[in-house]
Amino acid sequence: MSKIILITGASSGIGQATALRLAREGHHVVLGARREDRLTATAEAVEAAGGKADVRCLDVTDRADVAAFVDAAAERHGRVDVIVNNAGVMPLSPLEALLVEEWDRMIDVNVRGLLHGIAAALPHFQRQGGGHFVTVASIGAHQVSPSAAVYCATKYAAWAITEGLRQEVDPSIRVTTVSPGVVESELADSITDPSAREAMRTYRAETIPADSIAEGISYALAQPAGVDVNELIIRPARQR
Ligand code: NDP
Repeated sequence: MSKIILITGASSGIGQATALRLAREGHHVVLGARREDRLTATAEAVEAAGGKADVRCLDVTDRADVAAFVDAAAERHGRVDVIVNNAGVMPLSPLEALLVEEWDRMIDVNVRGLLHGIAAALPHFQRQGGGHFVTVASIGAHQVSPSAAVYCATKYAAWAITEGLRQEVDPSIRVTTVSPGVVESELADSITDPSAREAMRTYRAETIPADSIAEGISYALAQPAGVDVNELIIRPARQR
């Protein structure tokens, strides 16, 4: 069955790969992120492959903007079946560098952005009697490493929020956390701290394509209504 699937952070990396895969499978994707040109290019790629996509400029740190993103899709299509809360940033640094503004940005995008997505979609899912939340967390939701304390804290939070949501909502609403390992994307480009940037070069030497995560999301969405894939960890086989 074709679903209306909202994806935040759909302008690159995992969000973009997820949009392309799910659209190829016949779903209608609604793409949100800040870079409109990149969203438009993604929508063009979707349409060139025979799929259907809407584009809307979105900043997940703005609660009203996220609500408008979800409400507009519900109004246009009559329902919203899935929201993939994927938007995230990872400007890593050791705590002693005191890059407090970058800590705040990770908290705003990775935690508040997720909460805004839940707040926007949950009333629709409750009214419809069904829906599916997908959170793109991280392997950083399961282990902490130097330079990644704040990033991991945001991903532990994303994991906890999503697990709490799963326990609280009606079983007609499904909840999935996907935790990627090292995936090819633009994620490390936001690192400004020189030591963290250098460390990431080695850590990120072995990657898997973003479509590997998209395939996991597709698997979770394709299960029958009574089956909830709660969690997937997908990482390069070589990643320890
Ligand atoms: P990218 O940097 O390629 O993608 C991040 C996406 O988030 C972009 O589309 C970006 O779009 C969007 N984004 C950032 N800030 C905002 C904002 N304020 N509002 C709306 N959208 C925003 O990285 P990935 O694809 O790798 O990241 C996707 C998710 O996967 C993130 O949550 C990340 O933490 C997680 N992850 C990635 C891993 C990896 O190795 N790649 C490993 C583990 C987890 P724009 O700039 O246009 O707004």
